[in-house]
Amino acid sequence: MEKVIKVALPTGNFDMPLSYLAKVEVDEKVEGRRVLVPLQNRVITGIALGIAELDENIGFELKPIIEFIDKNPIFDSAMMQMIKWMANYYMCPIGEVFKAALPPNISPKSIAALELISFPGPMEANKLAKSAKNRFKILQELEKQNKAVKISTLQKKLGFIIDAKQIEKLQEAGYIRYIKNIQTQAKLKTAYKLTLSNKLTDEELNHLASILEKKAPKQYRIIEELFLAKKQKLEVFQTDLLKKVNATSATINPLIEKSIIERDLVQISINSEQTGELATGNEAKLNLTDEQETALNTINNAIDENIYKPFLLHGVTGSGKTLIYIHAIQKAINQGKSALLLVPEISLTPQLLDRFEQVFPNQIVAIHSKITNNERLESFNKIINNEAKIVIGARSAIFAPMQNMGIIIVDEEHELSYKQDSPRPRYHGRDTALVRASYQNAVCILGSATPSFESLYNARVGKYQLLEIKYRADKAIMPDVQIIDMLDAKITGNVNGAYSITLVNEIIEKVKKKEGIILFLNRRGYAPIMECSNCGYIPICTHCDVTLTLHKKYKQLRCHYCGYTEKAPEICPNCGGEFSELGRGTQRIEEELIEIMQDNGLTPVIQRIDLDTTSKKGAFRKILTDFAKGKTDILIGTQMVAKGLDFSRCTLVGVINADTQLFIDNFRSSERTLQLLTQVSGRAGRSQKSGIVIIQTNHPDNPAVFYAKDTNYMKFFEEELKSREQTKFPPFSRFCVVEFYSKDYHLVRKASQFFAEHIPKEDSIIVYPPLEPYMAKVKDTYRIIMPIKSMKDKDISGKKLRQALRSAQFAYTSMENDKVVIKIDVDAYSMI
Ligand code: ADP
Ligand code: ZN
Repeated sequence: MEKVIKVALPTGNFDMPLSYLAKVEVDEKVEGRRVLVPLQNRVITGIALGIAELDENIGFELKPIIEFIDKNPIFDSAMMQMIKWMANYYMCPIGEVFKAALPPNISPKSIAALELISFPGPMEANKLAKSAKNRFKILQELEKQNKAVKISTLQKKLGFIIDAKQIEKLQEAGYIRYIKNIQTQAKLKTAYKLTLSNKLTDEELNHLASILEKKAPKQYRIIEELFLAKKQKLEVFQTDLLKKVNATSATINPLIEKSIIERDLVQISINSEQTGELATGNEAKLNLTDEQETALNTINNAIDENIYKPFLLHGVTGSGKTLIYIHAIQKAINQGKSALLLVPEISLTPQLLDRFEQVFPNQIVAIHSKITNNERLESFNKIINNEAKIVIGARSAIFAPMQNMGIIIVDEEHELSYKQDSPRPRYHGRDTALVRASYQNAVCILGSATPSFESLYNARVGKYQLLEIKYRADKAIMPDVQIIDMLDAKITGNVNGAYSITLVNEIIEKVKKKEGIILFLNRRGYAPIMECSNCGYIPICTHCDVTLTLHKKYKQLRCHYCGYTEKAPEICPNCGGEFSELGRGTQRIEEELIEIMQDNGLTPVIQRIDLDTTSKKGAFRKILTDFAKGKTDILIGTQMVAKGLDFSRCTLVGVINADTQLFIDNFRSSERTLQLLTQVSGRAGRSQKSGIVIIQTNHPDNPAVFYAKDTNYMKFFEEELKSREQTKFPPFSRFCVVEFYSKDYHLVRKASQFFAEHIPKEDSIIVYPPLEPYMAKVKDTYRIIMPIKSMKDKDISGKKLRQALRSAQFAYTSMENDKVVIKIDVDAYSMI
């Protein structure tokens, strides 16, 4: 039956799904299948949303769907509902949500080819050669090629364009077949596999080898290697073998021509990251502590019940949350369900992946920002073909097309990297995980040692069940946290560069004992700011209005927002005065530490770890492996060292400056400071060896700093919650930011005023006047932001907020001169 199919297209140009025609069976399931459809003069991949009735009076003709790519839906109904929810909640065209959900290179190309069926007999051929020269040439070429040939290739060979008429006529005469082939754009990786020919007996081979040994030693080596591999049943690829015996393909080709070696082109997996070294053993074999067992039992009961159940697992650092995840995942897998583990970012994945790989060998697909598009597609295909039941990944893994999800775990749920900033949808991975789990009747675990205040609040009001682990696993005790007042230390002369003498002494002691040290500073580069000591001039990015960061090694000033670089000036371009360096980045504290150590007769191996040293694939893994094995004594790093790492040899953690985040203009800045301090402290003393944490600060009395000492996270939560209630910030409201962008300053101003005035008055909504953010200009574009709060007690689902924003948006786009880009950030986290 001919039906109308609603199709969502992965492009932002279409807010609404488009309608196409297709023949479908009565009971055929359409929703969630990929379809190939014509759009203007392209062919693109869309997702079928469902069937609608044919409206005879539609007024124009609908185009037919070219093809259903999948026999069965690749997205199950929970996933489809989640996607619709995202489009609505985050105010984003559904096509863009699908774009985020599909690998970027998935859209197939259609390739047309011709194949000869039968060549005309002599009479016919003669006639054709005279009357239709080109048609005859096509047939001749096809006969010569003796296989199906792409039309584009044929055209190149023949030197003329083949048109539809010619093809039609040749088809009608029964000479050729027209083939339409759908090919994905992704190039799956292939390699030449070599094997010794089975036709040769061992005797013949021996004889041959003895001849080659003197005459052609390299060919001899090749045969020897292949012989050994055959005995051990190992695969040999040409590139590896040639490298090993130091030969070129010229050495191998004669052996292939003589059928001594067989060569086949085979498909190989492209996901080939080395794993394993960062785990200490199969954790699943450990006995659970009582606290772990209690938490796990509660989770397991929910898995058995097949109901949506959200948990907040609040366990101190080193409490063994990972072990609980492992067992819960095992439980779901045993029931034939699939499991998803979300982790904040790539920096967490190497070690965590290894720990899971130990327990679930070859059952895991990993998705993160450093894999290539082709690897992404390979993972995607693996998942839809049901070859992997466990997915571990950063936020975008929430789109993993698994069926029958039994459990979703969001590790370190408080992390800001779960929030997508651009492109749209600007979703929160954790919140979306809860939604997907609810549509799937699955269990959802939010885990953290420092839960977000939103989640703690949700647990308090009963939305989540709270599971607590108060003690570290394996009898490890919490580290001893000391807070050093740096202003005080400076007055008493107890500092050396960025280091308090207390910290220096601890470092010296641990270096001598060969114990691991982690130093944390939330700023990369050498010195954040250069200032002229004569006139006070500070170099600023000409595109962004922010100070440039000095990277001493490259003698460069860099903008950390747009990537702009310039040569660091020797003297002040303003007055010719001398520059002094204000503040410190990881490069500078590394340099200072080397000097301090040398003064004490020590030369520890120091490794810096930040975006600059880990940009290459695999670099981060190598740095961590070296530290785990004791090849490195000291790790100095930014955020990347603060979280998730588990090294038993680390007994000292130093926080060089606790205050870097404290005074950023954001209502979450103290929450984030305490989270970071608690997390980084948690890297110390994770085994029987006790750990020490030294936190250096200019503000020892700030609650966000001193609660790090008592590890009294909940007390801080209570205090903060009171102030958030007064100021009506989340969790009491939904905080949303509308952003306006334009190269024209007056246009952004005007647009933001207009938008503000056209938001309908609602007593649940507080609209703040448009303001210039800290970053008022980025990449030559001016920005204005407008914060909005929507009170949760009056607008529980946020529906009124969305309606109000849509109505202002509509009013604005109805105006002419729409040059200002407007972005809406629902549940905004960043507003700098
Ligand atoms: P978290 O993620 O809660 O900070 P981890 O899961 O990294 O903690 O566990 C910390 C360390 O304790 C790991 O090395 C882990 O192998 C170990 N561990 C966890 N549970 C147990 C247990 N029941 N017995 C022994 N060691 C454990
Ligand atoms: Zn810039």
